[in-house]
Amino acid sequence: MEKTNTKKLKCASHNTFKEWRPTTFEYEEEGIMVRVPNVPAWVCPEDGEASFTPEIVDEIIVTMRELLESAKRARKRRTVLTEYIVSVGENTV
Ligand SMILES: [Zn+2]
Repeated sequence: MEKTNTKKLKCASHNTFKEWRPTTFEYEEEGIMVRVPNVPAWVCPEDGEASFTPEIVDEIIVTMRELLESAKRARKRRTVLTEYIVSVGENTV
């Protein structure tokens, strides 16, 4: 993972500098929750609010769409399995 983003971001509500560190990206659609752990982002030390860079969002969105489609198909089959965790390769964070 390249760290192209070096300028610090400030949290508008707490007036503190955000920290560049791994956090969990969460997205919910039609009752389906997709969580992506260890995503590097600017995180507010006060409340943990994360700002993701556009590059990372673009990358996550593509996979997220596919995961949501799979989850919707699984729901139609009325499967008893309700949670899936997918990992790809080594954690380089
Ligand atoms: Zn904050």
